[in-house]
Amino acid sequence: MYVSSPKPAAKAVIMKDSLGRHIHYLRVSVTDRCNLRCSYCMPAEGVEFIPHDEILRYEEIVRLVRIMAGLGVNRVRLTGGEPLVRKGMPELVESLKAIDGIDYVAMTTNGLLLPELAEQLKRSGLDAVNISIDTLDPTRFAALTGKDALDAALAGLEEALAVGFTKVKVNCVLSPDSTKDDWLGVASLADRYGIDVRFIEWMPMAGEEKPEGRVEEVKVALRKMYGALTPAKADTSGGPAAMFEATGSKGRFGFIEAISHQFCDRCNRLRLTSTGHLKLCLFYNVGIPLKEKLRDGSSDEEIEAAITHAVAFKPEAHQGVLASEVDAPTIDAAKGMYKTGG
Ligand code: SAM
Ligand code: SF4
Repeated sequence: MYVSSPKPAAKAVIMKDSLGRHIHYLRVSVTDRCNLRCSYCMPAEGVEFIPHDEILRYEEIVRLVRIMAGLGVNRVRLTGGEPLVRKGMPELVESLKAIDGIDYVAMTTNGLLLPELAEQLKRSGLDAVNISIDTLDPTRFAALTGKDALDAALAGLEEALAVGFTKVKVNCVLSPDSTKDDWLGVASLADRYGIDVRFIEWMPMAGEEKPEGRVEEVKVALRKMYGALTPAKADTSGGPAAMFEATGSKGRFGFIEAISHQFCDRCNRLRLTSTGHLKLCLFYNVGIPLKEKLRDGSSDEEIEAAITHAVAFKPEAHQGVLASEVDAPTIDAAKGMYKTGG
């Protein structure tokens, strides 16, 4: 375990930004590396990976999360790149779960390594797993991700359920070239396993134009297959998905419309990139570099003050495309979700 001392007693602290939004959720990108190359996320070739010594060490992530737990963060999601390509993930989960105030640690993964790691992750205390699968057509999967690995992703999903994860969701990105067959194929996993399948609007991360929403098309296809979609009870965790039930499916369907129906007014999250930049909004390059502070002898109090100062700059809302002109400390433009952490 990566113990980060001293371990403070949990404080009932609430961190609010300048608009009064309650900030308590941190998404941590643990790596920019990945065993897939999804076309909408990572270039197929020519990716320059960040040198290892620029990536936050686990002890550094644990220290930052402990400091942020002291500021009121209680939920953490591990993402990437592909989090499971980084060795020692179960130990990191265990260390994060041991932090006072952190009561939920989840992971977003492409699932390929879950057949070998799901059981250890469950034992380490991981609370939930989101698995990204965009099509059930093996040929389309290979074309989209650069690897003939649909069976591995589905085996990962089955293993996560088999080892006892009760919070397993599937994420499906509605990329511009996705088809009705893709949506309905992935949607069938909801009924087959009794899980939530969530459709995510494709987000332009590399300067592309704001896309046309495709959610209505998906809803039409789902209604034809599963009957009327009835709004489900609101997600108590404050998640961004609008969830629906349908009489023809054991599992639910969700829609995350980050572009067309912005949920910025109830945004509760911060993002930590793998190089230690605290990013205040996915679509803005506004944030602060924390790696240097972790390595230059800064005290916990100094780091805490830097975070509190930065949170005041959290943008009010995004326009659905990557923005960079913000009057606040900035970080380099991140092109592609694998760098930012999706
Ligand atoms: N490798 C893991 C995975 O694929 O689940 C975690 C990292 S990935 C960047 C996190 C999520 O972001 C995935 O669900 C992925 O589909 C989604 N994603 C990546 N690029 C995206 C984009 N341009 N628009 C919308 N979602 C995107
Ligand atoms: Fe890798 Fe996830 Fe990006 Fe696909 S979406 S390339 S699996 S980081």
